[in-house]
Amino acid sequence: MNRPVMLVTGASRGIGAAVARLAAARGHDLVLTWRGGGSAMADTVAACEAAGAAVEAVVADAGSAADTARAFAACDARFGRIDAFVGNAGITGPAGDFLSSTDETWEAVFRVNVVGLASACREALRRMATSRGGKGGGIVLVSSRAAQIGSAFEWVHYAASKGAVDTMVLGLAREMAGEGVRVNAVAPGMIDTDIHAEIPGRIERILPGVPMKRMGTAEEVAEAVLYLLSPAASYVTGAVLPIGGGR
Ligand code: NAD
Repeated sequence: MNRPVMLVTGASRGIGAAVARLAAARGHDLVLTWRGGGSAMADTVAACEAAGAAVEAVVADAGSAADTARAFAACDARFGRIDAFVGNAGITGPAGDFLSSTDETWEAVFRVNVVGLASACREALRRMATSRGGKGGGIVLVSSRAAQIGSAFEWVHYAASKGAVDTMVLGLAREMAGEGVRVNAVAPGMIDTDIHAEIPGRIERILPGVPMKRMGTAEEVAEAVLYLLSPAASYVTGAVLPIGGGR
């Protein structure tokens, strides 16, 4: 039997890498994208292959529709099928209060987190939707608790972009409900990845307000992503699952 195929964006490190590793361990073959090239993807690919997965790694900017189309075409060429899409790649943009943010920052963040994500969802759904000859599938988008909190004085542009992701999930879930595709999101809180590095002291400042008093791990988010894509979640669509230790 053919193994299910999952495409994960932004999989060289952090949450995307953890999703890829867990998916490999659970029997998926993988197409993994990342920005910037170089050797950053090597560890993730090696770990997934060691778990038995066939892996296609594609350098692709999630903000570029052409790059995204190339990544999905590589999936077609290598595997001839796609069962799951995880839209994980995301950027915060520069930190600062709202009044010091610029249109350039808002456009750059929305380009990757919203426009590029929508583009990737279209690529996935054109292949999955049953009315287009697809066999159905699952999509999980990586949003953020920031969408509900606002990230004041830090990343309002980022929080607003994740609010758009939450709303996208609601619309896509309803449009795809008769097409064999479930569309959900995870909304991580403070997860221990490199994304916080730009703001020194951020973790120490925010952690006391997290009821569980610790950061989450990328692996804990990956477990939720794999749950939402699994048959165990067969009646779950349009959900945005908070993974924030109670925050
Ligand atoms: P990270 O910075 O550790 O990893 C980001 C990954 O995305 C890397 O593989 C990077 O190469 C890739 N990437 C970034 N921009 C890209 C682009 N334009 N095109 C393709 N790939 C790109 O971050 P992370 O913490 O693992 O974040 C992953 C996702 O989780 C993001 O969408 C982020 O907004 C979200 N998130 C993270 C947290 C957290 O606390 N870490 C909380 C909420 C949401």
